Amino acid sequence: MKYLSTRNNNLKESFTNILFQGLSKDGGLYLPESWPLLDINTLRDKSYEEVALNIINPFVANEVSEEDLYEIIISTYKDFSHSKIAPLYKIDNNKYILELFYGPTFAFKDYAMQFLGNLFSHCMQKKTNQLTILGATSGDTGSAAINAFKGKKNINVFILHPHNKVSEVQRKQMTTNLDENIFNVAIEGNFDDCQRIVKELFLDKDIQGKTSLTAINSINWARLMAQIIYYFWAYLQIEDKEVSFIVPSGNFGNVFSAHAAQNMGLPIRKLHIATNENDSLNQIIKHGLMRLKEVKQTYSPSMDIQISSNFERQIFESFGHDSEKVNQIMREYSIKGEYEFDKSIISNLQSIYESTAVSNTNTIETISYYKKKYDYLSDPHTATGLSILKNVDPDHPYISLACAHPAKFNDAVEKATGSKSLTPKELENIFDKKEKMTILNNETEAVKSLILKNL
Ligand SMILES: *Cc1c(COP(=O)(O)O)cnc(C)c1O
Repeated sequence: MKYLSTRNNNLKESFTNILFQGLSKDGGLYLPESWPLLDINTLRDKSYEEVALNIINPFVANEVSEEDLYEIIISTYKDFSHSKIAPLYKIDNNKYILELFYGPTFAFKDYAMQFLGNLFSHCMQKKTNQLTILGATSGDTGSAAINAFKGKKNINVFILHPHNKVSEVQRKQMTTNLDENIFNVAIEGNFDDCQRIVKELFLDKDIQGKTSLTAINSINWARLMAQIIYYFWAYLQIEDKEVSFIVPSGNFGNVFSAHAAQNMGLPIRKLHIATNENDSLNQIIKHGLMRLKEVKQTYSPSMDIQISSNFERQIFESFGHDSEKVNQIMREYSIKGEYEFDKSIISNLQSIYESTAVSNTNTIETISYYKKKYDYLSDPHTATGLSILKNVDPDHPYISLACAHPAKFNDAVEKATGSKSLTPKELENIFDKKEKMTILNNETEAVKSLILKNL
């Protein structure tokens, strides 16, 4: 399997090469040159780990042996706190919730990040001896990455989060980690600013000459690859011809993994994107308009994103791997702040995706509705999806993703239901711990010098 870039379709990179990079040098994102097709019938009655092996093996074959890969997968999920790892909860007839918060930091990011941590350690032995991980987080990626990489030899981790714009639990999950290889940076800006700084540093020759910068955001293909697993897993737990998924979205990583599963043969009818009031993705799917907008703070901070990096992967696919065209679109978008897709592209997008923007009020009402009607407590990100699940076609199975544990977002939960969620012990413990972080101006140079000083 070789990998090309959304801005250079002639590239033929190996898996281990793209694993340890972030962006491609041309500024594009990596994608496999073709999609391996899986036969669903061979996956039935298999464990989560065995399904994972079947899905990931074709993407890494020849570079990680099947035995090593299986060992990595087994150790990745052994400490997840549910025997099914990603259990499917039937909440009503034809309505399901795929719960993805049984990893160490209680959000879906653990499912791919824990795998990445183990894969990095394995592949580093052969490849390189010192890594600098650089990532931006709207809240959950940061803690998942810190948990996956803390204390790892020869790996330094720099995580940028928007100052005062993540939940208290999210911040403490990151900053109470005092390991020497972990650096938390709070940026005086929003998530889009953090992500821009990360992208600029990946293209900075000076810093790249001094260290090997590695991405752990969903711009890293390996993250998306490991998220494909639970879409197959969810489908295998329902006996039906076709399913649809509802995916609370921000950076378009999770829902693009679902689309990758579809490309690999999973019978998906529709992928329904839920956004919060930051509705850029909704505008693109509904009207074909990609427009730069200000980020608002909502009850679902991990979705407070207006520039969804992974959408570039979808553009590349919709334009039939025409990387010239992607270059042109991204250039125009960055100069004018907007780009309008033509009708044929809009109908291509709408054949795959549907979308809804969910208001803050609706999010709170939905948490309250599910609590009263089903005694089911959801976090505000999950609730954006559940508000859509309420009104879908009752004759077709829908699976809505539960992206985080409600205790991570107790302010919203309390507002909706009058009381806080029960908090798992691991989260309660962080409240009295010491915090360590550096607050920096919204400037790439400031982050660059902090990294260089601490190499
Ligand atoms: C990251 C995250 C999202 C958004 O996922 P994307 O892959 O960025 O679209 C939604 N909800 C929660 C809880 C998250 O942590």
